[in-house]
Amino acid sequence: MFMAELKMIKSASGEEITNEKGSTKFKCPNCGKYIIIRSLHERKIATRYTCPECKFSGPN
Ligand SMILES: [Zn+2]
Repeated sequence: MFMAELKMIKSASGEEITNEKGSTKFKCPNCGKYIIIRSLHERKIATRYTCPECKFSGPN
């Protein structure tokens, strides 16, 4: 399901993130249309993310 709402920001694991310490926020490196947020925990366990816009996925 890729009915992405661009205003909705969620982490790769589906959690909504506010100001979690150590979280990272960046635009999709492929299309730049979607803001990806990863928590410190997700980076530690190297959770993969997938951009809902272009399907780009990666660990960074
Ligand atoms: Zn993208």
